[in-house]
Amino acid sequence: MKDAALVVVDMLYDFIDGSMACQEADKAVAGSLRFIEEQTALTDPDDSGIRSIFPILFIRDHHPANHCSFAEQGGPWPPHCVQGTHGADIHKDLAPYATEDLTFFKGENPQQEQYSGFEGKNPAGQSLAEVLHLMDIRNVIICGIATEYCVRNTAEDLLKDGFNVSILKDCIAYVEAKGHHEALKAMEEEGIQIR
Ligand code: ZN
Repeated sequence: MKDAALVVVDMLYDFIDGSMACQEADKAVAGSLRFIEEQTALTDPDDSGIRSIFPILFIRDHHPANHCSFAEQGGPWPPHCVQGTHGADIHKDLAPYATEDLTFFKGENPQQEQYSGFEGKNPAGQSLAEVLHLMDIRNVIICGIATEYCVRNTAEDLLKDGFNVSILKDCIAYVEAKGHHEALKAMEEEGIQIR
């Protein structure tokens, strides 16, 4: 697809097999990898013989140890994705596709919960939305974890900002099946394509 980019939300070890392991996470990682490989195969090699892949942007939950979303601070969640820990790392099968410029961190302010990757920032201080606009992306395809929280919030913020947004339904994991299905239905009604 032209003018398209993939946004990979929170495919981090704590959400896959760690303190907040989500349902269907292994399937979501495998499905995302397959999607990326299919897109790569469709791309013509450049002069050097390298297949340039369409942009893949990564969102990373990235909390200080005293983050407000953790139970010890009165928040709803167990500690997760603490900066510098294995749980905060991108799954090893997907990590090779992540570049510094296209990796956006969120939840770094200890006082602020941040489910959406929309205002996540790369190390240069640019937001996800800013970089998508700079690259003239119109169509954003989303995979990741978890459907009801960070995937939904990211997708809705992108839709509000005018992007065409679609979600790869075989490439998302969730906290609870009921919430997952309700979130998908609500997003579809809002105009997000579920594919
Ligand atoms: Zn978090």
